[in-house]
Amino acid sequence: MNTNKSISKNKPIIIAGPCAAESKEQVLTSIKEAKRRKVDFMRMSLWKPRTKPGFDGLGEKGIDFLIQAAKLGVNPATEVLIPEHAKLIMDKVLSKVPNTKLLLWIGARNQNHYIQREIARVAATDKRVFLMVKNQPWVSKDHWEGIIGHVLDGGISKDRLILCHRGFIPNGVNPHGYRNVPEYSMAMRIKDKTGLPMIFDPSHTGGSVPNVMRVAQEAAKHDFNGIIVEVHHNPKNALTDAKQQLTWEEFDSLVSIITKH
Ligand code: PEP
Ligand code: MN
Repeated sequence: MNTNKSISKNKPIIIAGPCAAESKEQVLTSIKEAKRRKVDFMRMSLWKPRTKPGFDGLGEKGIDFLIQAAKLGVNPATEVLIPEHAKLIMDKVLSKVPNTKLLLWIGARNQNHYIQREIARVAATDKRVFLMVKNQPWVSKDHWEGIIGHVLDGGISKDRLILCHRGFIPNGVNPHGYRNVPEYSMAMRIKDKTGLPMIFDPSHTGGSVPNVMRVAQEAAKHDFNGIIVEVHHNPKNALTDAKQQLTWEEFDSLVSIITKH
């Protein structure tokens, strides 16, 4: 596991934490656990675009939680839906904790290329900000490459851009019943062609704890540059993605299993 606070080409990038920021207790516990494990970034999204309406994140009200993580030496990470979110988070977090790194990501459901490019344009303005882009929900190598092209057009530097494979909506063979089906060879082709780091998201591919474990082991046979994993101190009561969030102990076993490869 990467014990370095900066991301590097040679060490795996480890991002872990709850699907969404929910409460003070949840966030403080997560920060403590994430800090102990020296993760590169702790995820805790403030915005959650949902398939069906439900808890869709704390939004601006949660910004203090990102600041709290940064103050305690844990680099925060959240999805942003529009450039204004990126700007707001960057202004508030980086002014309060100038020595933190910040990871913003564009999620699978956010498939407006104009918005993708404008988010990248905002992220590009500060060297402390990293941008992660996930693949779209449906299978298409062209579309995936399109997303990457559009964010690069926004001016984000290649050394602050991370790609993430989170599988595609099942459409055919899916023997293990994954929530989203990985296309490892496509991910590897895009990684090689772009020269960008490609990490893997076993949480949104697997969809349930046993499948998260299974798919993470499968993915470890490929040349990914890291993982982003959903981890919650009390998964059963999580407000989003309760079925797939690991406990911190399960996260430890996952890391030890995959680092054996
Ligand atoms: C997430 O990472 O919180 C998420 C919603 O994932 P995706 O955009 O891959 O569905
Ligand atoms: Mn989730």
